[in-house]
Amino acid sequence: MRRKSTLPIYPSLHRYEIVKKLGDGAFSDVYRAKDKRTGRNVAIKVAQKYTEDEPMIDMQHLHPNMKKKPRVTELIQFTESRQNYFLVLDLCEGGELFHRIVDLTYFSEDLSRHIIGQLAQAVYHLHEECGVVHRDIKPENILFEPIPIIPSEERILHSFDDATKKDEGVFIKDVGGGGIGQVKLADFGLSKIIWDKDTLTPCGTVGYTAPEIVCDQKYSKGVDMWAMGCVLYTMLCGFPPFYDESISALTHKVARGHFAFLSPWWDPISDDAKDLIRGLLCVDPRKRYTVGQVLRHPWLAPKSTPSFDSS
Ligand code: ADP
Ligand code: MG
Repeated sequence: MRRKSTLPIYPSLHRYEIVKKLGDGAFSDVYRAKDKRTGRNVAIKVAQKYTEDEPMIDMQHLHPNMKKKPRVTELIQFTESRQNYFLVLDLCEGGELFHRIVDLTYFSEDLSRHIIGQLAQAVYHLHEECGVVHRDIKPENILFEPIPIIPSEERILHSFDDATKKDEGVFIKDVGGGGIGQVKLADFGLSKIIWDKDTLTPCGTVGYTAPEIVCDQKYSKGVDMWAMGCVLYTMLCGFPPFYDESISALTHKVARGHFAFLSPWWDPISDDAKDLIRGLLCVDPRKRYTVGQVLRHPWLAPKSTPSFDSS
C-alpha cells in the first residue's frame, strides 16, 4: 500500500494528510489532503514565490475578500515559507471544466447556460465586490463541486441536448453518473487587486488572451469578459474561437478579433448565444459586455436569475 505523506516541515499544516497529487503547473502543485482532526477533504496548493524576498502575489490581502463567496474556491488556511505559499482550499471533487469538455466534446445550450451563469456570478463577485481581475479564466481553472443526485430526478440521456435543467444543476447521467455540479472559479495565482486602476503586467493563456493584452495595451476587467466569451464559444462547439499552431499567427488573429461561427457546428445554436459571444469577443474593451450585461443578457436572464447570496 502506498504511504501517505504529510507536510512535516510546516507545523501549521501538520493536521493535514496528503492523499494524492491533483495537478501540477509551472509554479504550483496541488494535492488532495484530509484534515486529520475533522476528516474534511481539502485541496492544498503549494505555490512557488518568484524570489525569496518578494511576494509573488498578496494572497493574504486577496483571499480574505474571496472567503465564503459562492462560485469561488474558499481559502481555509494560508501559510508561507521563504520559498512557497501554502493555500488550503475547499476541495472541488468534480474536477475541471477542461476534462468535461474533453469527455463530452461540446455542450448543449442548457448545460453551457448553467456553467456561464455561475461563472458570471463568480466574476461579478470579483469585479464588482472585490475589485479583482482574475486574468486567467480558462476551462482548467473552472472547477465543479458535485451536487447530490436525487434518484427520482435522474434521466438517461441520449444526446447532449437532452441535458435537463433542475433547480441547481444540469443532470447528465452519461458523464459519470451525476450532475455536472456547481461551478467554482479557482486559481487566483495571477489575480491582482485593481480597484479600478488599469494594469500593464502581461499575463494569461494565449488562446484565451484578450487583444489589449497581446497588443501590450492597458487592460482591466474586460480581459475576464473576453476569456468568458472564449469559454462559452468553446463549450458550444468543442473548439476555441482563436487557434493557430503558430503563436505569432494566433496573436495576430486575437489582435484582429477575427473569429467565425462555422457551419455546420454553429447552425443549430441560437441567435441569443451568438449575440452574447459577439458582445464578449469584441476587440474594443470599452464596448465589450461587462459582467452586469452578461447577467442581464436574454440568453441567460430568463433561465438563470442571478442570485448573489451564498449557496
Ligand atoms: P496553477 O497555477 O498551477 O494553474 P491551479 O490553482 O489552477 O494552479 O491548480 C492546478 C490544478 O489543480 C487545477 O487545474 C485543478 O485541476 C486542481 N485544483 C486546484 N485547486 C483545486 C481545488 N480547490 N479542488 C480540486 N482541484 C483543484
Ligand atoms: Mg490553473
